[in-house]
Amino acid sequence: MNMNKTVIEELVKKVLLEMNESKSEKYNKDIYSNGIFDEMDDAIEAAFIGQKKLVECSMKRRSEFVVAIKKALGKESNINMISKLGVEETGMGKFDDKIIKNRLAVEKTPGIEDLVTEAMSGDDGLTLVELSPYGVIGAITPTTNPSETIICNTIGMIAAGNSVVFSPHPRARKTSLTTIGIINGALKKVGAPENLVVMVKEPSIEKAEIMMNHEKIRLLVATGGPGVVKSVLSTGKKAIGAGAGNPPAVVDETANIEKAAKDIIDGCSFDNNLPCIAEKEVIAVDSIADYLILNMKRNGGYELTDKAKINELRSLVINDKGKPVTSFVGKSANYILEKIGMDVKEEVKAIIFEAERSDLFVVEELMMPILPVVRVDNVDEAIELAVKVENGNRHTAIMHSKNVDKLTEMAKKIQTTIFVKNGPSYAGIGVGGEGYTTFTIAGPTGEGLTSAKTFARKRRCVLVGGLDIK
Ligand code: NAD
Repeated sequence: MNMNKTVIEELVKKVLLEMNESKSEKYNKDIYSNGIFDEMDDAIEAAFIGQKKLVECSMKRRSEFVVAIKKALGKESNINMISKLGVEETGMGKFDDKIIKNRLAVEKTPGIEDLVTEAMSGDDGLTLVELSPYGVIGAITPTTNPSETIICNTIGMIAAGNSVVFSPHPRARKTSLTTIGIINGALKKVGAPENLVVMVKEPSIEKAEIMMNHEKIRLLVATGGPGVVKSVLSTGKKAIGAGAGNPPAVVDETANIEKAAKDIIDGCSFDNNLPCIAEKEVIAVDSIADYLILNMKRNGGYELTDKAKINELRSLVINDKGKPVTSFVGKSANYILEKIGMDVKEEVKAIIFEAERSDLFVVEELMMPILPVVRVDNVDEAIELAVKVENGNRHTAIMHSKNVDKLTEMAKKIQTTIFVKNGPSYAGIGVGGEGYTTFTIAGPTGEGLTSAKTFARKRRCVLVGGLDIK
């Protein structure tokens, strides 16, 4: 899996060098063909022109553009490069899991086939509801899935006929530049219009604000924490908000406990718990809690039982405001254990311990492979607590149970966008579960798992008095 470090460094150097060479001439052709700009206004202007050209292309051509992007990003060397960059630049996550996530984004994000026309016909004729582009989309992307989000957004947005201006997290700048560089290289090769996918060379919150308020941006898509979702929703523009989660995993006495334990540890430790869908706390019915913990330990969980150590961990990774300490987000369990003076030789997937229901470890989204387990008397109490700690995010929840009534009850009560039954959380985004993938899960604004059709406007086209052949 490991790619030679110097090969990656050379490739990154090449991308950055190309950009620096064209620094002096704002409108020089190289910048345009790379889709990287100094100023946000110029990036948006170029994407505006690009989108006008895109809508003149046939659907067959649009499909070719998507295929070209997928082919280029799917190349092993490219997947390895962006995965490695993602880990190195952000200091978060695991290389092998980033590869899985990037590959997933490339392979399971739908293209133009997602744009299905609705038709109504009758005595008065034929009416079609078509999915048309918005125009230029402004997309804000996170540190936790930097390249993955750009890949899913790009494929869906271009398939729907839009161009996109990305505003990535400044801490994922290089990863984002490189991903966009690969995408634009692929688009250029197949003769696509220029500047369908653009970003500024030095992303910042200030530049994101320019983008959010620019008149030529017709739709905003924010993937990140509550702050950025609130920002895009305050602009007065149409906005899609994919915000924070705090997914609980409930286990009742009817579940296959051995499997539930493995699924929970696997889901929680995937990319060191960075995915917003990953298990963040376990709520277990008392009668099976001991056996569940035993099996979690058999599957890579490391149990802390010493209260002083748990307190030490709390003050290390949670700050005075009750929020995660950024330098521990996406770090490995072994790294975190070492920082509390635990010299654990074997590879640990997740740190587990029993916790009270109001513990910050339970109620806050930390994005670390730390899994508190809360004991409850029965499944009804478990469901009630899960609803509470999910905190109205409407994001993701997991339940391990064979009781169909209780599975149904929890799904109804918790109202999350993703509800995984008897599997790891990542089954909800298409890893070992049916369905397409996305890394932009829009709970707050209700679009759900975004795809090309999410990035399209519904338009009705009415033909009066004809073409009904029933
Ligand atoms: P973050 O909120 O710190 O940053 C996300 C993006 O928003 C970055 O590009 C950042 O520069 C930008 N941003 C932040 N505040 C802004 C503001 N006021 N104005 C304009 N732009 C602003 O999030 P992060 O730490 O990079 O990512 C982790 C968070 O994102 C977690 O809460 C996670 O649950 C969430 N997330 C959600 C989804 C989803 O699909 N729902 C996917 C990935 C991550």
